[in-house]
Amino acid sequence: MLIALAMLTTPGALQSKAIRLEAEDGQLVGTTVAKARLGFSGSGYVTGFTKDGDKVLLTLNAEAGIYEATIRYSAPLGQKGYGLGVNGTKTSGMFAATPDNFATTSAGKVELVGGVNTVEIDKGWGYFDVDYIELVPAKIDRSLKKPPLSLADPRATENTRGVFRSLISTYGTKTLSGQYNDEDTNYIEKTAQQTPAIFAADFMDYSPSRVAFHPAPKDLTENAIQHGKQEQLVSMSWHWNAPTDLIDKMLKDSTGKDLDAKWYKGFYTYATKFDLAAAIDDPTSANYKLLLRDIDAIADQLQKFSDANLPVLWRPLHEAEGGWFWWGAKGPQPFVKLWRLMFHELSVVRRLHNLIWVFTVGNDPKWYPGDAYVDLLGVDAYPSDHSDALSSTWDSLKRQYDGKKLLAITEFGGIPDIPRMRRFGVEWAYFVSWPGQTQPPGTSKQDLNRIYRDAGVKNRPSK
Ligand code: CA
Repeated sequence: MLIALAMLTTPGALQSKAIRLEAEDGQLVGTTVAKARLGFSGSGYVTGFTKDGDKVLLTLNAEAGIYEATIRYSAPLGQKGYGLGVNGTKTSGMFAATPDNFATTSAGKVELVGGVNTVEIDKGWGYFDVDYIELVPAKIDRSLKKPPLSLADPRATENTRGVFRSLISTYGTKTLSGQYNDEDTNYIEKTAQQTPAIFAADFMDYSPSRVAFHPAPKDLTENAIQHGKQEQLVSMSWHWNAPTDLIDKMLKDSTGKDLDAKWYKGFYTYATKFDLAAAIDDPTSANYKLLLRDIDAIADQLQKFSDANLPVLWRPLHEAEGGWFWWGAKGPQPFVKLWRLMFHELSVVRRLHNLIWVFTVGNDPKWYPGDAYVDLLGVDAYPSDHSDALSSTWDSLKRQYDGKKLLAITEFGGIPDIPRMRRFGVEWAYFVSWPGQTQPPGTSKQDLNRIYRDAGVKNRPSK
């Protein structure tokens, strides 16, 4: 099946040689042609990307398909970000510094239509030069190795193992849809007459240091359980308010602007003095015991799912590598210790065997808690263009985890364009949209319907 697909879409019929577009032949908006730096291709290069809106605009005729884009450039003043637009779809990338010559860099995969296409290079950070952009038909690798069926928790319930088996069986052919919170879930039902396969929510307000200020939610867990009973798969994250040492006041940022560091921002690094490294290294310390107290409080919520025999895609300690949450503020070592401590507390001490452990992955493998503690890897992605196929992220993760772990989008700003991603060979197990950009102007009703009704998207079975 996969092999047949690959043969159908291998661009054998496409022109196999590279299409080179000399920047200096394009339409220049705020930019100029230069010839001073030797070694350029064609009749010069384009310089003067200094003001917002400065760009070079190129058009070409092509056969429809996915292409690898390469840009030849110069960045004499140091590393610079650039923007790339292909038929209106924008991505961004980085030019590494090139003291006094030209270099080429991969700009990833882009999609061309049959006939006339537009390609533009936008200012980004500016202060770089562009010699040319080259497009070569991409070889899309659709082979996907399925990960082992076993879960990190060897005592996982039959129900939990069943859900995991089902995710593995659809992996590579279908992407499950998902949405945080009721409002957007209801909107999707009303607009597309489809219910997302996954309902996601967050245990933030059950954090003990929040409950000290504001009563815990009455029915957030119970509501998620209702979704679970109605055959949605439940995904739970936890914006863990630091156990103690909240700053709890207004601060000024480096530019003198107000920065809200009150108690309800206590999951952010800037809003707490809690030192994970010190706490996790001393199991006799008061702060270590507070970590356990908090994990126990959330275990009480997860226990309710267990009592209802409902599996949970459990996604704690997300986006650690970014460092903006306190659990990632002290580097990978204390983070991995905390992850493993939580794994032990929930699956061994509290005997919660209904959890599928989801790790939000970044770039550095030092943050990975290990195969024995993770069932599935997710990315949190907020691309400036919702139609971004995330193909370089996918390709990189697939190189590292193919045949080992499932890959998913655990947060997305908007609704990811799954049919477009499939054309790039990008095949997430599932996606979950963060609230707020699912409705217009974030995502049009037309796009929502197109994606939610695509054959490659699996929604909750209709009743
Ligand atoms: Ca040139």
